[in-house]
Amino acid sequence: AAEALLRWQHPQRGMISPTVFIPLAERTGLIQEIGTWVLDEALRQAAAWRDRGLRMRVAINVSGHQMRAGDFVDQLERGLAQYGLSAGRFTCEITETVAMEDTATTQRAFARLGELGVHVSIDDFGTGHSSLAMLRRLPVAELKIDRAFVSDLADSEGARSIALAVMQMAKSLGLRVVAEGVETEAQRDILIGMGCDELQGYLFGKPMPAASLAVWAMDDTGAAPMSFRPSLFKATEPVQ
Ligand code: CA
Ligand code: CA
Repeated sequence: AAEALLRWQHPQRGMISPTVFIPLAERTGLIQEIGTWVLDEALRQAAAWRDRGLRMRVAINVSGHQMRAGDFVDQLERGLAQYGLSAGRFTCEITETVAMEDTATTQRAFARLGELGVHVSIDDFGTGHSSLAMLRRLPVAELKIDRAFVSDLADSEGARSIALAVMQMAKSLGLRVVAEGVETEAQRDILIGMGCDELQGYLFGKPMPAASLAVWAMDDTGAAPMSFRPSLFKATEPVQ
């Protein structure tokens, strides 16, 4: 795995894209440890921001391994209590493929996330096979349209139809829609025109260290003119 990672290193920055290392970590099982670290780090950072007077909303990617291991929600619950953080400020992003796994363990994990009051988001939506009945039953607040559809929006009628269909379905189920991977103004305008609730991507902000993020979030004159304000500070609504 290390060899493969080295070969894939970005030539300019010496950085490895998550599209490379996450699938490798999933295959080798390292994702379990990475997931635990990410959760601890997200909680610790949220507490540090809170202590500085910043009430940031934090989203965490939760892997299928974590959902299946059965102790993820306990770990999250303990962490929230330990740092005195409110569950409503956290979003757990779980991919559509994992969400549709109808196993007792994953379904129980979903139910407990709902009870805890964290915001659950279905990630990479449109790439798996969703059952509407399942979607309605899960304590889900939000769908995240997969970046593949977003990147093709300006050039592909098919991508536009899928994005629109996801938004109409979300609306009828009472869910919010987030588009990820927004990189151009054309994509932004199409998504706003379709009534997308929230946009995410390089057009608004690139991955950055926590210290830079605090400064960026307080600065309204970001890199791109924004018709959307950063939603970092909003509390999220727990789902019934
Ligand atoms: Ca995600
Ligand atoms: Ca995603």
